[in-house]
Amino acid sequence: MQHLSIVTASLDIANLPSICLRQKAQDVPDEIFPETLRSIIEGMVFSLYSAGGVGLAAPQVGIGWRLFLAMERDPNASPMVLINPKFVDMSEEIEEGREGCLSLPGYFSTKVPRSKVVKVEALNQVLEPVQFEVHDFLARVFQHEYDHLDGILYTDRLKSLEDLEATRSAEERARETIEHLYARPETTPQPDM
Ligand SMILES: [Zn+2]
Repeated sequence: MQHLSIVTASLDIANLPSICLRQKAQDVPDEIFPETLRSIIEGMVFSLYSAGGVGLAAPQVGIGWRLFLAMERDPNASPMVLINPKFVDMSEEIEEGREGCLSLPGYFSTKVPRSKVVKVEALNQVLEPVQFEVHDFLARVFQHEYDHLDGILYTDRLKSLEDLEATRSAEERARETIEHLYARPETTPQPDM
């Protein structure tokens, strides 16, 4: 039997219509080699930073396991690793907010409904049990990434595809950058997941 080849560089992020984005991922097996797991996580972290995102799920890099990274919208934050996550509670209070997806470049929506608070149980990067209660932005990232594990995209959560918007064109972005150099007020870039 051949050994799994181990990934040592950034993992490419799949875009639709890649089939792995629409499949339900499997639990990461207990007997996984620690080096294999570490190597996948390192590749995903590299991909996440390269793309400037705030979350990345294994199916987005073509790996059909229930594993995702999520982080706060803070340049100093480091990503949390959640393996085989389960939501044990979700607030009934729902809020519509902005989401874009690294696997659906060029689009976003400000009308993606999500629970404001979620409680999750998972394993961390060394397969120890962890629990988090996350709110607002991070709760949104968790729900977006968790959906990827079930083959669900944020566009599936919209009431209508008319709620989907195109990001600015390259020319518009370039013009804004130039304007920004000439003392435009600070605008925070909106990261994808
Ligand atoms: Zn996504």
